[in-house]
Amino acid sequence: MNKTATEQQIDSVVEKIKHLGHGVNISRGTNRIVIGAIGDESKLTPEMFDPMPGVEYSMHIVKQYKIVSRESHAENSIVHVRNIPIGGEKIQIIAGPCSVETQEQMDLAAQQVAAAGCRLMRGGAFKPRTNPYTFQGKGVDGLAIFRTAADKYDLPIVTELMDIRMLDTFLEQDVDLIQIGTRNMQNFDLLKEVGRINKPVILKRGLSATINEWLMAAEYIAAGGNHQIIFCERGIRTFETAYRNVLDVTCIPVLKRETHLPVIIDPSHAGGKAWMVPALSRAAIAAGADGLLVEMHPNPCEAWCDADQALNPQELTELMQSLKGIANAIGRSL
Ligand code: PEP
Ligand code: MN
Repeated sequence: MNKTATEQQIDSVVEKIKHLGHGVNISRGTNRIVIGAIGDESKLTPEMFDPMPGVEYSMHIVKQYKIVSRESHAENSIVHVRNIPIGGEKIQIIAGPCSVETQEQMDLAAQQVAAAGCRLMRGGAFKPRTNPYTFQGKGVDGLAIFRTAADKYDLPIVTELMDIRMLDTFLEQDVDLIQIGTRNMQNFDLLKEVGRINKPVILKRGLSATINEWLMAAEYIAAGGNHQIIFCERGIRTFETAYRNVLDVTCIPVLKRETHLPVIIDPSHAGGKAWMVPALSRAAIAAGADGLLVEMHPNPCEAWCDADQALNPQELTELMQSLKGIANAIGRSL
């Protein structure tokens, strides 16, 4: 309450809290009076109290995200994609092209991803492009191409879902790990739908989303019953223009403290240039990330999308080698 709040104003707040079915605890300090509401916090919002005369401000004490919070689950959770654990001692590198282009390209990419020692493959069939006149992805055909290529090397597939109407098709193609992209982090209807299915989900961070907003978005998925969620930092937008986005390495320890769920890093969309990818990847693993989502193309110069940031197969193999040392140094393995 304000310093100048009257007893009558304090009583009104107390009455309102009681009327809403909560207990009240009043703490009278020398300068301030703090009124605590005791009970189910989800029933109360700051907007119910902020406009009342005498109120300085009101806030939730307990975190708004519950299922995803470490408070609710102290141990690290491991999300299994088929039989591959993400979030345990082993670090998982998910590699593949930005986009599914042709069967030949995906067959070759799958072979190269497997040869480099990666256990999962990425590739977008539905692409969220900034420019509506550029390649928008191969769509449903792309999913089938991806499935065929990845099955030859027994690689689970990771691909982006942009539209609820495609969810059944994703399930028919048995997409192993559904990616919710940056631009859809707060598409709450989409989050609710993937919350109702039994498939692991990668939730990328929104372009300018705070960590709290990101955790709340994950809670939307978890609230529907699907707790198989992997956070993916892919760089955030700042004033810097020297690279595509700023990789927020700081979010790794913060998320690790706030949530029990796995955290992976996409160094490709962060840096936006292939030559930045190894350094960002090493930083991410050293900081405690559980894995990476990396773009690799059999022939980057020919890529239909994000050509600048794609590693070539040789660079992916070298990256895997250099990450082994870092993983070992922090008591993990690749
Ligand atoms: C992607 O991973 O292909 C992609 C489009 O990423 P983001 O949503 O992070 O931009
Ligand atoms: Mn891309």
